[in-house]
Amino acid sequence: MSVLLLVEHDNASVADATLAAVTAAGKLGEVHALVAGTGAQGAAEAASKIAGVAKVLLADDPSYSHALAENVAPLVVELMASYDAFVAPATSNGKNIAPRVAALLDVMQISDILSVEDSDTFTRPIYAGNAIATVKSSDAKKVLTVRGTAFAKAEASGGSAAVETVSAKGDQGLSSFVGADISKSERPELTSAKIIVSGGRALQNGENFHALIEPLADKLGAAVGASRAAVDAGYVPNDYQVGQTGKIVAPEVYIAVGISGAIQHLAGMKDSKTIIAINKDEDAPIFQVADIGLVGDLFSVVPELTGKL
Ligand code: FAD
Repeated sequence: MSVLLLVEHDNASVADATLAAVTAAGKLGEVHALVAGTGAQGAAEAASKIAGVAKVLLADDPSYSHALAENVAPLVVELMASYDAFVAPATSNGKNIAPRVAALLDVMQISDILSVEDSDTFTRPIYAGNAIATVKSSDAKKVLTVRGTAFAKAEASGGSAAVETVSAKGDQGLSSFVGADISKSERPELTSAKIIVSGGRALQNGENFHALIEPLADKLGAAVGASRAAVDAGYVPNDYQVGQTGKIVAPEVYIAVGISGAIQHLAGMKDSKTIIAINKDEDAPIFQVADIGLVGDLFSVVPELTGKL
């Protein structure tokens, strides 16, 4: 089986999410990595070094500057004439591009796979991760997105794949890039951080969130996350959100501060290796998944903890 893998990149380097997708794709067959970008030679070279990548296809064109799905999908569909499966990380980009590819190929998409059972059969979460479905597809070509936390990351170095240039399909004229408002942070990126400190509605407002959660995170070298309630209330931007409709994370340590543990939040973090919960309600559902629980008022516990670190 031959597999076309969508590389998530910033033209210069390859995003971590790609590495787990390489591992998943490698379970199906030989992996060829597609780098669609502008001035993306650096990303193509980085992709060629990933262990498990047999070839890199570089489509370098201004129409791929911002990974607009309307432009990237037709390129993938053309290339898919030579492949049996298309695999993308289940990132915002992957989730934007893969459904268009599936529709244009007239096949089903299998989203957010957790395992590859065989070349036709995959597992994926349903009901916010409360059940795992085993899905068998009879489509001739598979279109898959991969949950990054479910697969080990391929080594970013050690490979030596050839980079082959493929011709671009150009601007389809269906969409255009207007602007990006990207929040910059010195802290680690949420989905690849080893430690995450997340705050919930209990913080009461943005000032408290910044004053209590961020110093603790900075002491630990951690990323900062939040529940949807904290995001909806405007304490922090929505790219902080962890959960079913936010980011899926699985760090070494996840510290949930004033978060109740609704199933939609657990769906995004329950695979964390060690979960620490701070909550004043000893019956809060978060304690059912926590490895370490501290029952107490966060307004006294968190400053004390930060001070002692
Ligand atoms: P609450 O449920 O209000 O919990 C606050 C907690 O703080 C309580 O347990 C309370 O005991 C504790 N507390 C209060 N004061 C203190 C104090 N002083 N010290 C210590 N503890 C204190 N939610 C997500 O997080 N992510 C998602 O992606 C997501 N997606 C959703 C998708 C759908 C379709 C739906 C319907 C909901 C989704 N939700 C999501 C919302 C989810 O159901 C919950 O409403 C949300 O997670 C609650 O956030 P919270 O735990 O911060 O707030």
